[in-house]
Amino acid sequence: MIPVTKPYIPDISKYQQYVASILKREWLTNNGPNVLEFEQRLRDYLDIENLLFVTNGTIALQIAIKALELEGEVITTAFSYIATTSSLVWEDCQPVFVDIDPRSLNIDPSKIEAAITNKTTAILATHCFGNACEIDEIQKIADKFDLKVIYDAAHCFGTKYKGKSIFQFGDITITSLHATKLMHSIEGGIVFCSDRKVLDKVSFMRNFGHDGYEAFNGVGINGKNSEFHAAMGICVLDDIEAILERRASQSKMYEELLQSFEFGSQKITNDCEFNHAYYPIILKDEEQLLRVKSELEKNEIYPRRYFYPPLNKLQYVNSATCEIAESISSRILCLPLYHSLKIEEIKSIIDLIHASINTSSKTIEEI
Ligand SMILES: *Cc1c(COP(=O)(O)O)cnc(C)c1O
Repeated sequence: MIPVTKPYIPDISKYQQYVASILKREWLTNNGPNVLEFEQRLRDYLDIENLLFVTNGTIALQIAIKALELEGEVITTAFSYIATTSSLVWEDCQPVFVDIDPRSLNIDPSKIEAAITNKTTAILATHCFGNACEIDEIQKIADKFDLKVIYDAAHCFGTKYKGKSIFQFGDITITSLHATKLMHSIEGGIVFCSDRKVLDKVSFMRNFGHDGYEAFNGVGINGKNSEFHAAMGICVLDDIEAILERRASQSKMYEELLQSFEFGSQKITNDCEFNHAYYPIILKDEEQLLRVKSELEKNEIYPRRYFYPPLNKLQYVNSATCEIAESISSRILCLPLYHSLKIEEIKSIIDLIHASINTSSKTIEEI
């Protein structure tokens, strides 16, 4: 069986040593030594000072929306994982969908201004599949209309923009360290803030608003993460360079083997050093996608329709038309990509795609 992704498993005895010391210390959560060490390791690796390790990427988004006191309408992308939209709705903001650029698959900045009203308070954009948004364009619009910017950078560990970690743009950037992401802590997320004061606020919010044992600073939630999760984060971070290198070489292999097909692909933004988090292919139409997908599934290979349906079509949002996102969503397929995926497996995936496409053209000729 070849799934679309598998979690990276670090050296098992190393993780076991961490677990043994956590248990011996009897300090399992609440900003323990592993959480502090992990946060410091992240600061050093990413060269970003203002960050906090939290429960997961979704809580990170919700805390970001609360910390920036967003309300009313928030402009967002129609093509992302559901958490980008659901966290806005959960926090009582109204998502206003803007279509994507068919090359980058990110929100199209040239369409943002038309969606701004006097109720707009922010832009929440996703760096889709690890590819940078048009950060400078988005910031210009935000400055002009006095809007906050949040980036959902859940896919972006290892991505750089203009030579710096992509996590340092916008008022707040969040990432996810879920087991399916290339860098993970089983469950986990990180909040990055450009302003130290906002980070302090997030820090209170992450821990029920506690300001010492008996005083409180604002409304909070339980957004903390545990020593066990931090230990996994440390162990995976130890191997991050190898993880990124493997992803790049597997993607190159896919690219070479897929050259003879006429599939579309995501175009990486200028000045973006991409982390190869996913390997999406854009097929001719939904019928071709379903044919390829079912051929692979017959052989116990499970690519995924990331992201389907498009977010503007969710039942709990105001349905807007986003033609490009809808079209891409109907025919984009993410192929398996994970650290232990073998070259022979990539080859057999390509062979099966070949076979399914050839059958499809044969049937057309037969008709
Ligand atoms: C995974 C993901 C999230 C949610 O992260 P969790 O850590 O699973 O809560 C949010 N946005 C995007 C784009 C994601 O892919």
